Amino acid sequence: MTDREYLKDLRVPTPDDPLRILISACLTGITCGYDGTANGSYPSALKLLEYSTLRLIRFCPEEYSFGAPREMCDIHGGNGMDVLEGRARVLTETGADWTEGMIKASEKMLEIALREGVELAVMMDVSAACGSQVIYNGNRFAENKVYQVGAGVSTAQLLRNGIKVISQRDYASLELLYVKLDTSHSINTTAKDHHETEWYKNYFNIQQ
Ligand code: SF4
Repeated sequence: MTDREYLKDLRVPTPDDPLRILISACLTGITCGYDGTANGSYPSALKLLEYSTLRLIRFCPEEYSFGAPREMCDIHGGNGMDVLEGRARVLTETGADWTEGMIKASEKMLEIALREGVELAVMMDVSAACGSQVIYNGNRFAENKVYQVGAGVSTAQLLRNGIKVISQRDYASLELLYVKLDTSHSINTTAKDHHETEWYKNYFNIQQ
C-alpha cells in the first residue's frame, strides 16, 4: 500500500506536462490476460483513460515473457519479493517453472519505468506478476485456494526500486489521484483502499 502523503504531494500535472503513470496493460482494456481477455473491466482504472493530464505507460509482464493466451501461473513458497531473492518459485497450473521468465519480465518493467520516469504505478491486484496487496499463495486452481498479503514479481521489482504502487482496488488512493488529474474532481471521502475493506480485514484476521 502506498502512503497517502505521497499521493497528496504528487505535482499538479498539465496537458503539456502530464503525470507519468505505469499501468498493467490489461487494466486499460488490452487483451493480454492469460485467456486472451483483458481480465474483466475495472471502471476505477478505465477512468484514467479520460485525462489529458495523464500519460499512461502500459505494459504486461507476463505477455512480454510468455505471450497471450498462456497458462495461468502463481507464486509458490512466498511472494514476489521472495521470488526475486531466490526463495520462491513461479509455477504454472501444469507445473512448468516460469520463475526465470517472470524475473526477466519484472526487469523489463523496471527498465521501462525508469526510462519513462514514471511517478506512480497502478497495478492489477492478485496477479502473480502485478499484484500489489494480495496474491495467491500457491495454485489458485487448488481446491482450497489461499490468499496471502504481498506483491507479485513485477510489482515487487518496482517497490524495491522505490517506485510507488497502488492497485485498481485502492479506491481511496485513486480518489487522491483523480483530484490531481482534474482539480474539479469531488473526492469521495467514503472510499477505501483494499487493505481497509471488511473482506481484507476478515480474511487476514486484522483487528478492526
Ligand atoms: S501480467 Fe499484469 S498486465 Fe498482464 S494480464 Fe496479468 S495482471 Fe494484466
